Amino acid sequence: MARQPRVVRTLPALHRALARLRQAQQTHQAHPTIALVPTMGALHQGHLSLVQLARQHARSVIVSIFVNPAQFAPTEDLASYPRDLDADLAALAGSGVDLAWVPATETMYPPGFATRIVPGGPASVGLEDKFRPHFFAGVATVVAKLFLQCRPDIGIFGEKDYQQLKVVTSLASDLDLPIKILGAPIVRESDGLAMSSRNAYLSAGERTAAPTLHRVLMDSADKIARGAELVRVIEHGRAAIERAGFVLDYLEARNADTLRPVGSAQDGPIRLLVAARLGRTRLIDNVAV
Ligand code: AMP
Repeated sequence: MARQPRVVRTLPALHRALARLRQAQQTHQAHPTIALVPTMGALHQGHLSLVQLARQHARSVIVSIFVNPAQFAPTEDLASYPRDLDADLAALAGSGVDLAWVPATETMYPPGFATRIVPGGPASVGLEDKFRPHFFAGVATVVAKLFLQCRPDIGIFGEKDYQQLKVVTSLASDLDLPIKILGAPIVRESDGLAMSSRNAYLSAGERTAAPTLHRVLMDSADKIARGAELVRVIEHGRAAIERAGFVLDYLEARNADTLRPVGSAQDGPIRLLVAARLGRTRLIDNVAV
C-alpha cells in the first residue's frame, strides 16, 4: 500500500517533525525548501494538483487540513462541511506529502484567542467580501497562523479561489513574510464544473445545471476577446446563469491583478469571476479572458 503522510496534531509534534524535515534536507542540500498546501480537507483532484505543484517546487510538502470556523458566517455550512480524515489520508497516500498538519480547533483558537488580521486591497473589492463579509479576515488570520507554525518557503493556493489567492499574496507581501505564493490552475470535471468539496451537496438535478457557470464564463471570455462590448456581455451572461436556475451573487469582469472594476477590454488583463447559488449550494468559478 502507498505510504500515507505522517499526521501531526499538536504544535510540539509539528515543531519536532519540522526540525526532522529540515535536518534531513540539510544533509543533502544547502537550503531546505518546504511547501505548504493549506486545505479544509474533503480532498479531490484539485487539491492533489496543488500537492503536485508543491512537489515540483520544494523538497518537502506539508498539507494542512483544518476546517477553519473563523471564515464561516453563522448562517454558513460549518457544521455540515464534509470531514473525513481517513479518506483524506488515503487520497494523499503515495502523493509524496511528508506531513499532514491536522490541528484541533482548540489548538488554532485556544481560550483567550483575540487577534484577527483584517486584510484590505484585494479583500475589499466587492466580490466575495460583499457576500461573505467576515470571510477574508478568517482566511488571513488562519493562513498567517499556518505560515508561522509551518514556516514554509512556498505557499500553494488554487486559482479556484482567485480573490483568496490575491489576498494571500498581498498578506505575504505586506507582512514581509519570506514565503513565495504560487497559484495553481483550476482543476475541472469533464463537463467543466470546477472541482469543489461543496459539489457533494448538489442534487442530481443541480449537478446537471452546475456546469452552466463555466460555460457562461467561457462564452463571455470568448466574446470579450473578440471585441464585444463588456457591459452587454456581462448582462447577457448574468441572464443565462439565472435562466439555468441559479441565484446569482455576482458575475463581474475585473482587472486580473487588482480585481478592480474595468470599463473596457483595454483596462485588462481581465478575469471573469462568478458566484451563484444552486439550492443551498454556493458555487464560485473564474476564467482569464
Ligand atoms: P479548500 O479545501 O476548499 O479550502 O481549498 C484548499 C485549496 O485548494 C485552496 O487553495 C483552493 O483554491 C484549492 N482548490 C480547491 N478546489 C480547486 C480546484 N478545483 N482546482 C485547483 N485548486 C483548487
